[in-house]
Amino acid sequence: MSFNLPELPYPQDELEPHISAKTLSFHYGKHHKTYVDKLNLLIKGSEHENKSLEDIIMSTSGPIFNNAAQVWNHSFYWKCLRAGQDNNQPTTKIAELLTKTFGSIQKFIELFTDKAINNFGSSWTWLVINKNNDLEIINTSNAGNPITDGMKPLLTCDLWEHAYYLDYQNLRPKYIEAFWKLVNWDFVETNL
Ligand code: MN
Repeated sequence: MSFNLPELPYPQDELEPHISAKTLSFHYGKHHKTYVDKLNLLIKGSEHENKSLEDIIMSTSGPIFNNAAQVWNHSFYWKCLRAGQDNNQPTTKIAELLTKTFGSIQKFIELFTDKAINNFGSSWTWLVINKNNDLEIINTSNAGNPITDGMKPLLTCDLWEHAYYLDYQNLRPKYIEAFWKLVNWDFVETNL
């Protein structure tokens, strides 16, 4: 069994002007695809060949983990985004939870943004449900995925430079500002 590159949930120019079609053509068509191809090569003929992606992530380390987690993380990240909206507000249920946990939606956005700006190097920032069943903002490095710590991802922001360098060069805060216009809150709520 081998893994396929999942289809993007929208055309490659859907996120413009915030994330360009050029970025998506590299990020999805090259980076994400390469993780899928490498994972398939690494698991071929191994004990991991017929496992689910989640099982591989939970039971490996090193190159197999890195590629499997990057496949999962990217498939999830694409679903976290949709066409940009200037006044992009969370849906009712998630808005209530964010307000209860962080004080207000604005405060949540500030905290997540600050955590993402300060997430060193190639990394991901996540909104998760933690083991105490509370919402929490967490950072992972490289391919790190919260499911290995028993947490349930609700939303993620890819902070590898390949996610924003063509559009914003080194200006990660500008990319994160654009990210908030693109967040697919309907998808976030379905992850609850
Ligand atoms: Mn990426």
